[in-house]
Amino acid sequence: MSIVVQNLRRTFGTFQALRGINLEIADHQLVALLGPSGSGKTTLLRIIGGLDFPDAGQGSVVINGEDVTERPAAERKAGFVFQHYALFNHLSVFENVAFGLEVRPQKTRPSKDAIRDRVLELLRLVQLGGLEQRLPSELSGGQRQRVALARALAIDPKVLLLDEPFGALDAKVRKDLRRWLRAFHREIGVTTIFVTHDQQEALELADVVVVMNEGQIEQIGSPQQLYDHPATPFVYEFLGDVNKVRKPGRPDVFYVRPHEVKILFAGDASAELHATIEHLFAAGPSARLTLRIQESRETLDADITRLQLEEMGLSEGDEVGVHLTLTRS
Ligand code: ADP
Ligand code: MG
Repeated sequence: MSIVVQNLRRTFGTFQALRGINLEIADHQLVALLGPSGSGKTTLLRIIGGLDFPDAGQGSVVINGEDVTERPAAERKAGFVFQHYALFNHLSVFENVAFGLEVRPQKTRPSKDAIRDRVLELLRLVQLGGLEQRLPSELSGGQRQRVALARALAIDPKVLLLDEPFGALDAKVRKDLRRWLRAFHREIGVTTIFVTHDQQEALELADVVVVMNEGQIEQIGSPQQLYDHPATPFVYEFLGDVNKVRKPGRPDVFYVRPHEVKILFAGDASAELHATIEHLFAAGPSARLTLRIQESRETLDADITRLQLEEMGLSEGDEVGVHLTLTRS
């Protein structure tokens, strides 16, 4: 289902949490709402799902061509998953996933057999087949979040709304689940909005990333568009490492990513700047150099390959030449 949000405003007391949000999401997309804490991500997600509402007359939410701005959550058929798994601890995995179907009024409730088939199919889909009799306390954090996802899917949602669903899990599990969610979304194809404050997570996972800051959208684009063509200094700094540098004789500030800094021998005629290696960190796939630029006394981070590091025989204290391969102001 497509989602269109127009001119949305939400005020809490005198505080403007959302200040005119416009957003269009196409069917089947996996969209990340990315921004620092307090930027309005959760508020926007809740309003899309019908758990909260915009200020009176201030904006609209249209799902699949239908204006649902004033409709409650129950009429929007959105599936929710939150950071802190709200599973029922006294119910089994099976009962948790079946819950949304069991509580339907008799008229629309599927038969016991149909519910059973649906729940088992969903548990297979989230790779928890065979664990249906377990209690939530007998599962890992990652498994619990997959139960929460299966439960959200049981109602056959039109849209899936995930609010920092992996936020409480440790880094390794997060990474696995991220990859898993990507493949999972490809399989089920439900339009999904995913809130995160983790830029890596957003860039790796989403078709489209919406960068939010102080209740406004800074930029919308594919991960690569955002990374390569940030529209604002905020987006530049929020999406990955970046250096701010001044070039001699020019007043403007340039943004350059560490992998865009070319390291040359000190005597190389194509060097624009000269620097001393203050710190060298090579315990990873590439080497990170922290440089002190001689011309401006500024520091600059550069990433080079381990191969280049070895071939040039660089170590801390060495002088090098610097060429900025790509500079944007
Ligand atoms: P995010 O999810 O990006 O961290 P939120 O949407 O939760 O941000 O909140 C945005 C801002 O609105 C924050 O400053 C928060 O304190 C404020 N806020 C959110 N919900 C309420 C509320 N119910 N009452 C008052 N202020 C709120
Ligand atoms: Mg939030």
